[in-house]
Amino acid sequence: MTDSIALRMAWEEHPHFRYRGCAPDADVPWMAAGDPSLSLDAWHGEDRDGSEPQRERLAREQAAVEVCLNCPVMVACDAYASSVVSEGGKARLAEPAGIWGGRLALERHRAFIRRRHEMAAPAPSRLMKTPQKLRVLEALAVHVTAEAVAQAAGVDVRTANWQRSRLVTQLNLDKQSATRAQLLAAAVERGLLDAAVVVADDGRVPAVPPPTKTADQPAVLAEPSVLPVQRAPEAVPRALRPRRRRVTAVRGQLPLFDEPARVATVTALYSPNCRLEAAA
Ligand code: SF4
Repeated sequence: MTDSIALRMAWEEHPHFRYRGCAPDADVPWMAAGDPSLSLDAWHGEDRDGSEPQRERLAREQAAVEVCLNCPVMVACDAYASSVVSEGGKARLAEPAGIWGGRLALERHRAFIRRRHEMAAPAPSRLMKTPQKLRVLEALAVHVTAEAVAQAAGVDVRTANWQRSRLVTQLNLDKQSATRAQLLAAAVERGLLDAAVVVADDGRVPAVPPPTKTADQPAVLAEPSVLPVQRAPEAVPRALRPRRRRVTAVRGQLPLFDEPARVATVTALYSPNCRLEAAA
């Protein structure tokens, strides 16, 4: 028996399960017992049909969550719905859709991802021992600013920042809040860096600096052969522009070319048998 099945049984066998908010109302079975004005679809409506207008969806979700918050089995319900099952070798939530235990599917998914991140084992050291990563780490140990780190590591700022970001992930640190000091401490702990070379800071320098765009560091480096430069056509002076030829037609004769040697005449333009005669 998996944890998920046990948690579902605990929820269904809870002494107050029959009083749950999303149970069918005794008089109108398609409405919720916890709020007789609320349809049972309120807990799962949008997940089955994504065409629901946003305003209606938000109102419905809020009403359903309010019922959940007064539900006597909310904790057991959330424990079951947020438990993890294995499907095809991949982990997923026991109830990936709908509102369960007072939480929207999106909230439960976010919590699930956060839990996975906390439980994930750090990457093996061999993945972090690439020459470029080690150079960036050594540079970060003695420098603070992004430019100085990049220069000391012999790479551009963007590459240095990207490697710092990769190291934060591989050392299982939080990308949003990890500091330079934490990154270096984790690297020392993993044997990637010698503690003696680390220069301390005030503890507030982020492990990964926010993205910057400088004049010598364009946002997109495009190869000219891949993205050819498109030049606007140069303006031609009015006097040098070719003149438009004026074409005039007379009944029975239509000059097609103004060169004297090639004048075609449509003699059959208005004739009954539409016969074309061209004179060269
Ligand atoms: S917590 Fe919400 S979804 Fe769970 S049983 Fe109660 S009312 Fe239903």
